[in-house]
Amino acid sequence: MSAPLQAVRGISDILPADSGRWHWLEQTIREVIAGCGYHEIRLPLLERTELFQRSIGDLTDIVQKEMYTFTDRNGDELSLRPEGTASCVRAALQHGLLQQPQRLWYQGPMFRHERPQKGRYRQFHQIGVEAFGFPGPDIDAELITLSARLWRALGIDAVRLEINSLGTPDERQQYRRELQDYFRRHEAELDDDSRSRLERNPLRILDSKNPALQQLVAAAPLFEQHLGAESRAHDAHLRRLLDAAGVVYHHNPRLVRGLDYYTHTVYEWVTDQLGAQGTICAGGRYDGLVAQFGGKPTPAVGFALGLERVLELATGAPAPGEAAADCYLMPLDATAELVALRLAGQLRDALPRRRIVLHCGGGSLRAQMKRADRSGAALGLILGADECARGEVSLKYLRADRPQEALSLDAVVARLQAEFARV
Ligand code: ATP
Ligand code: MG
Repeated sequence: MSAPLQAVRGISDILPADSGRWHWLEQTIREVIAGCGYHEIRLPLLERTELFQRSIGDLTDIVQKEMYTFTDRNGDELSLRPEGTASCVRAALQHGLLQQPQRLWYQGPMFRHERPQKGRYRQFHQIGVEAFGFPGPDIDAELITLSARLWRALGIDAVRLEINSLGTPDERQQYRRELQDYFRRHEAELDDDSRSRLERNPLRILDSKNPALQQLVAAAPLFEQHLGAESRAHDAHLRRLLDAAGVVYHHNPRLVRGLDYYTHTVYEWVTDQLGAQGTICAGGRYDGLVAQFGGKPTPAVGFALGLERVLELATGAPAPGEAAADCYLMPLDATAELVALRLAGQLRDALPRRRIVLHCGGGSLRAQMKRADRSGAALGLILGADECARGEVSLKYLRADRPQEALSLDAVVARLQAEFARV
């Protein structure tokens, strides 16, 4: 016999013991985001490869090395989405949503063929928020305060906000040349990755995670000198708003984003509690992207957070473990099964938030009691042949030292409602 199949490397299952934590995480985030007036958009997992080439850029690691790309049966080049912004812009344009300002959010799995390690997976989950049609720093501040609100709701405090301005594409062009000159002078010290970025995308060298390059990167020329008056004003206004909102930030002049379409504000929320994978949320403004897709020039800003990393930090998360049942029904023969199925339906109608588990698979009372005990239920309902014939069931307290009671079938629903109302 062949060995049982395993999941693909870097792609994990979320098991029943953990799904409760994920529900809590997603629900908490959803409530905060919706509470700020954002609307959910559900986007497909598959897109044309071209979409990501045109948005994220041919020269980025994501498009060059990390995408899951294939040709489908019609010969179309498709990719599993590595991020959500490109799809969000595509969908907004395709459906004419950008005639007016939009506040949108999305969630779901993303796919990148990276080297798997703690906090870095090949399928991971993001929640992303995007706002279109707002040119000013007021919306940048709204998004940043929204993320700060998320951390509070999740019980995360070991995070630090780093912000920077990437100015306009023109301003960046000048800086790019200066940076290129600098790194060319130090070409011998660069690693292979950085050398390959030197001609195509020298700003990305600043993003290198290689410790051996940190000194060289630290001494590189800064972008700030190239910022024009408008870019400076945008940045200064944003900082005033953050100060007023009481959001603490740190200016990191070396913060660049891996993606090419950013303009002006960029930011990251980082922690030192997760080792090398310390960025839990990253975002910024990308005023050029909608026009790059053929739409009317539309200012845009957004962020995405990595749910796996956020969950690691969230002190408000419930402990791992499967949610216990509330009530376990034990039909002891075939006639009782008919009654139990109907009774379970009535209980589920009357107690929609409770877990009502109906024993399946028959067996002796002893065997069924064992399962009831393992389900974690507080209450058991025993439906024996004689009892059913009398129109009765036995209520058993599985977690309390209270005597078993005989109940008339008609009284069960009301009695359980009363029992659960007390806890
Ligand atoms: P990193 O620098 O860690 O590679 P990134 O710049 O590639 O991150 P973004 O594309 O900005 O990340 O994605 C936003 C967030 O999604 C990241 O801050 C991180 O929390 C999460 N994330 C990105 N890639 C992964 C991954 N492979 N596994 C788990 N989470 C990820
Ligand atoms: Mg990355």
